[in-house]
Amino acid sequence: MIDTSLKIIKNTNSKLHELDFDNIPFGRAFSDHMYVADYKDGAWGDMRIEPFGNFSVHPANIAWHYGQSIFEGMKATKAIDGTPMLFRPEMHAKRINTSARRMCMPEFPEDAFLEAVYELVKLEQAWIPKKEGSALYLRPYMVAMDEFIGVQVAKTYKFVIFCCPVGPYYSKAVKLKADDKFIRAAEGGTGEAKAAGNYAGSLYPAQIAKQEGYDQIMWLDAVNHKRIQEVGTMNIFFVINDTIVTPPTSGTILKGITRDSALTIFEQKGYNIEVRDLTIDEVMKAGHDGSLKEVFGTGTAAVVANVKEIGYQGDTITLNPESYTVSPFLKDTINGIRSTRIEDVNGWTVKVV
Ligand SMILES: *Cc1c(COP(=O)(O)O)cnc(C)c1O
Repeated sequence: MIDTSLKIIKNTNSKLHELDFDNIPFGRAFSDHMYVADYKDGAWGDMRIEPFGNFSVHPANIAWHYGQSIFEGMKATKAIDGTPMLFRPEMHAKRINTSARRMCMPEFPEDAFLEAVYELVKLEQAWIPKKEGSALYLRPYMVAMDEFIGVQVAKTYKFVIFCCPVGPYYSKAVKLKADDKFIRAAEGGTGEAKAAGNYAGSLYPAQIAKQEGYDQIMWLDAVNHKRIQEVGTMNIFFVINDTIVTPPTSGTILKGITRDSALTIFEQKGYNIEVRDLTIDEVMKAGHDGSLKEVFGTGTAAVVANVKEIGYQGDTITLNPESYTVSPFLKDTINGIRSTRIEDVNGWTVKVV
């Protein structure tokens, strides 16, 4: 009988007093506790919340060589009355298992995932900044732990969740390069998995784009380099005339939970929405003829990031984020739902009490 009960080992040396809540560096401040579970002999066990700290890792750790490593990113916020809240945690529980299946990793039971984030956030609630737009960012991840060199499916894994308090993520408008050479994901590849290797592969093209004066890459399809996929760690939306357009997530695009929430919010507001393929040529043309009103990315970290310029094969279109209405509406709605300022008509939030 495997013990899957959650043990809590408290940190007696809290670092909370060292955190300046008015000036939190993104991804560099870590809370006092983390959740850890180990997989061996075909089952998850030894679930525990323990003091945040280092792991000791064997030099032949199989994930370091062959890359079985997946992750999630989600946020806990505070309601106006101070109650901690999670946002669509069940979607993250499901998505990490979609990633796990693609990477031949064991699924982590959804109920254990939900218990983990719930209990961790309950314990770490003093680390959740109160100001709307700020949050406790949770990083669940799974990594292979076999001490063995050879390409094969690992037999042992760790599932971990740690927490980073983050301030109101103000993302300034970005310049995108539509890359006609490098790709992020191809049909049949791993683009739909939140897998570490996808990000490693994107660093070099992103570095070139930065040298050319862009902030991020807008990825195009791997075959014709025409159909738009997504941006960095965000899904992408276009407002053309009065219609909101976003590409379908049919295998090569990460199924963003913010994207899904955005589509629901837009539909409930009565906007025209089209989920369809669109090409970079269509976007450049709409940018030149004035029908392209807004371009923005969506993701958990920034919620929304506006685009102010797109470059493609020497051609440039510029946009005016100050005139955007759809993107600020979306950001305000999601942040408002996460702080209880706006009613959660879809039942997306889970109170941690
Ligand atoms: C995480 C991620 C997104 C956004 O997903 P959310 O669930 O909205 O945070 C989009 N694209 C990529 C490649 C991602 O890794």
